[in-house]
Amino acid sequence: MSKPQGIIRPLGLALVLAAGAWAVYALVGCWGLVIWESLQRYARTFESLKVAADGRPLIQRIVYDSGQQSVTFRALDGSDVPGEDWLSSASLPVPVPKRLAFPMMGYSRVRVFADPQTPAIMWYFLHNGARDGRGYFVGYDSYSKLSVGFIGRGGWRPDEPPAGDWFPMDEVSFASGRHGYYYGQNDADRGEDGDSFPGWKDYMISGTDVLEVDLRRRSVTTVMESDGLISIGILETATKSKAAGEGSPHSKHRQRLAVRTTDRVVVFDAPGKQYAAYRLPDELRDKGFEFYEIGAGSALVAVGQGLPAYCLGESLFWIDSAGNILRRAEVALDQGVHYSKETEAWQAALGFPCPCVIAAVALVTPFMEVLNGAAPNYPTALLHSLAVFWPPLLVVTLLSAAMAWYCFRRHARYGQPHGAVWFMFVLLTGLPGLVGYLFHRRWPVLENCPHCGQSVPRDREICAHCREAFPLPALKGSEVFA
Ligand SMILES: [Zn+2]
Repeated sequence: MSKPQGIIRPLGLALVLAAGAWAVYALVGCWGLVIWESLQRYARTFESLKVAADGRPLIQRIVYDSGQQSVTFRALDGSDVPGEDWLSSASLPVPVPKRLAFPMMGYSRVRVFADPQTPAIMWYFLHNGARDGRGYFVGYDSYSKLSVGFIGRGGWRPDEPPAGDWFPMDEVSFASGRHGYYYGQNDADRGEDGDSFPGWKDYMISGTDVLEVDLRRRSVTTVMESDGLISIGILETATKSKAAGEGSPHSKHRQRLAVRTTDRVVVFDAPGKQYAAYRLPDELRDKGFEFYEIGAGSALVAVGQGLPAYCLGESLFWIDSAGNILRRAEVALDQGVHYSKETEAWQAALGFPCPCVIAAVALVTPFMEVLNGAAPNYPTALLHSLAVFWPPLLVVTLLSAAMAWYCFRRHARYGQPHGAVWFMFVLLTGLPGLVGYLFHRRWPVLENCPHCGQSVPRDREICAHCREAFPLPALKGSEVFA
């Protein structure tokens, strides 16, 4: 019996089955991968740049091997050196003037700070989420859960500040974290000894001001006023000092606040007095970097290479306060992950053996790169993406074309309509689509036609190949005629 049938319902059913087939495929694939990895001898290497208290850049190498961890250090010339204490750098990124796809997408509009007294006071910076936005602090006693008031641009107040008293902070700045400190990042034990920045002081860029918001005193002070404020961070300097009776000198660390503008990095000491200023060489002005102060009037700037998640090396620049580059060096870092975009494209092809998914990934990846600032515009990013994705896309498409052709031939053999639609379906959806096609319906039994001898479906009265009527089955005498 053959009746005309719609194509939408069977296609939808086949698509659902294809998704299910892919889920099973992915699950089995993940199990296989986990089992395979557990059978491997497991050794991984991570290298990162460290700057010793005396200003020498060193490479820290951590090797994890079957549960054991070893840490070694070497100088840039490759010689092994003992590990010692480190300087911490100020991370001074250039917030990408990225168009956030949707306002505040993926960002919380609340930032948490703590004043670690007993009981601790929790302060929340609330941003209104507007592109050209503003925000204010509200504090709560962590024991009584009662509000302790608000802090606006003009300082503490018992009630919610009116809009004019909020801190100006545009959305991009807020999203890229232009506060100096966050809760969790600060060190509650640090006191206010003039050498460090206590955790209850938040430094932030608000409009053309760098502000110190003292959450304990509940006051707001302007540290610096300038156009072109870009980012702020806390760094550490060290001076060798030898206390009486001590054998070897130890270094004393001091924290400083670094403020980056379009052309300078200005360093402040804890009480808020300007301590040093460095002109930025032109070639560093558009780059995000780690800033180390390694001595009076000299700084080390490290620019990461590669994608943010996989730093494959650092470019080092030694600069003086006048903005001269005194020395430069390239440091290759072994991150254990031998990552390449090509490998990732092949992994995507293995994980999603469907041409339409791979094509979508190839088209969406450059869009994401433009959004997160890794590429200047979509056409450029698209060219790179296509250069990386075409081999896996070609292989997956050829395999899918072979499966689509098989499906088309089979469909004709069963004498079913819409063969071209199913050809396109399997061509686009690949292996999962083939599974979906095969299982989306019952298939009639094939038998050889007594007239032409072809294998044809027996769900109808005439042969799909030679159009001759099938002979009626021989009567057995037990049939009931109504
Ligand atoms: Zn026939």
